[in-house]
Amino acid sequence: MKLTRKLFLSYLLVVAVSLLVMAISASLVAPAEFSHRMGYRSGGTPGPRGGMGGQTTTPIEEIEVGFHEAMNTALVGAGIAATLMAAVISWFFSQQIVNPIRALVKASRHIADGHYKERLSIHASDELGELTHSFNQMAETLTETEIVRQQLLGDVTHELKTPLASIKGYMEGLQDGVIPATPETFQLIHREAGRLQRLVRDLQELSRAEAGQLPIQVQNCDAPELIESAMDRLFPQFREKGITLQTNLPDNLPPLYADYERTEQVLINLLGNALQYTESGGRVTVMVSRQHRQLQFSVEDNGIGLETEDLKRVFHRFYRVDKSRSRASGGSGIGLTIARHLIEAQKGRIWAESLGLGQGSTFHFTLPINFTKTS
Ligand code: ADP
Repeated sequence: MKLTRKLFLSYLLVVAVSLLVMAISASLVAPAEFSHRMGYRSGGTPGPRGGMGGQTTTPIEEIEVGFHEAMNTALVGAGIAATLMAAVISWFFSQQIVNPIRALVKASRHIADGHYKERLSIHASDELGELTHSFNQMAETLTETEIVRQQLLGDVTHELKTPLASIKGYMEGLQDGVIPATPETFQLIHREAGRLQRLVRDLQELSRAEAGQLPIQVQNCDAPELIESAMDRLFPQFREKGITLQTNLPDNLPPLYADYERTEQVLINLLGNALQYTESGGRVTVMVSRQHRQLQFSVEDNGIGLETEDLKRVFHRFYRVDKSRSRASGGSGIGLTIARHLIEAQKGRIWAESLGLGQGSTFHFTLPINFTKTS
């Protein structure tokens, strides 16, 4: 039952019970009081208005006075009883409202002190029950955020450790004269510093993406133009590694409703991965197909492939299938996580497919078609 109705009914109940108590008390007290007073008067004692001044009162006046006095006494008694009863019932109802609020106040203070496990049991289906439910949900979200925060901190520390230890090792070696101060040594230190720089840049981007703070400016985009622009950036590296980069695009593709730069960023990331995880002499194909109200982009390679259990995990932050290989090439395991955030922020979906290790892999993502421009 809703709180408003509960409160309304409780007020009605207080009034009804008070009236009932009053009626019962009055009906019990008034007759007895009346006969007591009448007996007192008929015993010849002077009435309140008579006697003292030498005046006598008529029997009717005696009855009237007796009646009024009896009624007054009965009303005072009944009023006190009704007030007491109303106070008891009101106290009971106010406790029903105040107790859950007190529990909420106590629990929120506990959470503010960092005890995120605090939860409250829900006893009612009214607004207070809903408030308790929302409180529990908030506590759940806080707990998850805290876990993610701790994991992120652990992951970042772990990622920073390797290049830092490496730079420190080289520097100590140089100081002790164990490592020669050759251009190659400085090149190695420079490479580790570059890795740190990339990691910090990726982390900044990741934290903004996870907080939903990467600005997305959707506009009318041409899919073939987007693909060409992304491919142009990586073409020299593909040629250098001896990997064929080709497209398979149907004619008359409708325009996309997407952020040009962000979508290009995702394509570059997928092409960069395909380049990295495909051996020389391999082939990478970029395809687009129309799926109902969306365009589906696919980047297919015939590289090292992925095992089924890794297909989803590769989108988790810092996840790398082959850690040493990926790290050696500067991979931090963040690229696909950022790509997922960017695609989901544009109301699309991204996923990976592979028949297994050595069977190549295909990364797909969808983005909405801009119907306002096509119809
Ligand atoms: P990284 O910077 O390490 O490449 P990503 O988030 O882009 O980070 O990718 C996460 C992991 O997914 C990579 O470390 C790699 O193990 C795997 N991966 C990504 N793309 C491919 C691909 N085309 N073929 C095989 N494995 C891939």
